[in-house]
Amino acid sequence: MTRAIALADIRAARERIANKIERTPTVLSQSLSDRAGHPVHLKLEHHQTTGAFKLRGASNAIAALSPEEKSRGVVAASTGNHGRALAHAAKLEGMRAVICMSKLVPKNKLDAIRRLGADVRVVGDSQDDAQHDVDRLVAEEGLVMLPPFDHPDIVAGQGTLGLEIMEQVPNAACVLVPLSGGGLAAGVAAAVKGVSPGTKIIGISMARGAAMKASLDAGRPVQVEELPTLADSLGGGIGLDNRLTFAMCRELLDDVILLSEDEIAGGIRHAYEQEREIVEGAGAVAIGALLAGKVKTSGPTVLILSGRNIDMSLHRRIVCGESSGRERAA
Ligand SMILES: *Cc1c(COP(=O)(O)O)cnc(C)c1O
Repeated sequence: MTRAIALADIRAARERIANKIERTPTVLSQSLSDRAGHPVHLKLEHHQTTGAFKLRGASNAIAALSPEEKSRGVVAASTGNHGRALAHAAKLEGMRAVICMSKLVPKNKLDAIRRLGADVRVVGDSQDDAQHDVDRLVAEEGLVMLPPFDHPDIVAGQGTLGLEIMEQVPNAACVLVPLSGGGLAAGVAAAVKGVSPGTKIIGISMARGAAMKASLDAGRPVQVEELPTLADSLGGGIGLDNRLTFAMCRELLDDVILLSEDEIAGGIRHAYEQEREIVEGAGAVAIGALLAGKVKTSGPTVLILSGRNIDMSLHRRIVCGESSGRERAA
């Protein structure tokens, strides 16, 4: 196993990426605070460049490459936002980027990555299929693989979000983090608990294909079937040979909550109607969990809104109440 990421790694990452990412705002949500009976803050990370936090890890990992590695170019499997972040960060460096995606990835995300000049390959029906293509490109073309979560520089980069939270809400008692492969949750938990050991970190996943939750329950990385979900950015496994994020999540997460598709849709709707924010399914799960009464919080709580790259016609159907996401998931 790779050494766990600690506060010092995350502080170093922040120095490295300071001029490549936005420091996103944290705002108080009056409606959620009224409902919860204590302050609820929203970390508006969906306003990050490329529309998701993934630019933090991608920028940090690319900055850490040697000149020789940079000349070879990078490759990754992605549900969309990591690929977009990597394409953006590679373009700034004048590097080649190849992104392998499954057919489950929404077209709006695919198009956005192509527009950034990356070479996009659509292969197979799952993240695992896409990963096979990545492995082939590493072997045959010498590209450097930068995976979406299970990599020290990626986790340290995502952790910079946790440092910002502790500066913006120093008395945070609880942080709700969208959870898939656990790069975000591991990095944020290491940063937050590094500064404030008593602060609770709760991961939120969709019930449809929650690989990290199943793995934590089993005590080792396990495979789950990847299913279509409104929280498409949370799809995919954690890797049976997971080196870093599984162990860190096991050590650092206080709880993991699963949401139905209706509850995710409720989060998207609330974000739009009450907070005037457009978020994608994965970015809405923290709000959804609070609204569903699935997390018992006391004291100042921070919800991470992690991304906004939703297909706008789907968003329209959800906020008009025409879709709970079920027909998409069918
Ligand atoms: C990737 C992603 C997540 C999950 O991050 P992990 O590091 O894989 O746990 C959550 N929200 C959005 C918008 C994402 O793109």
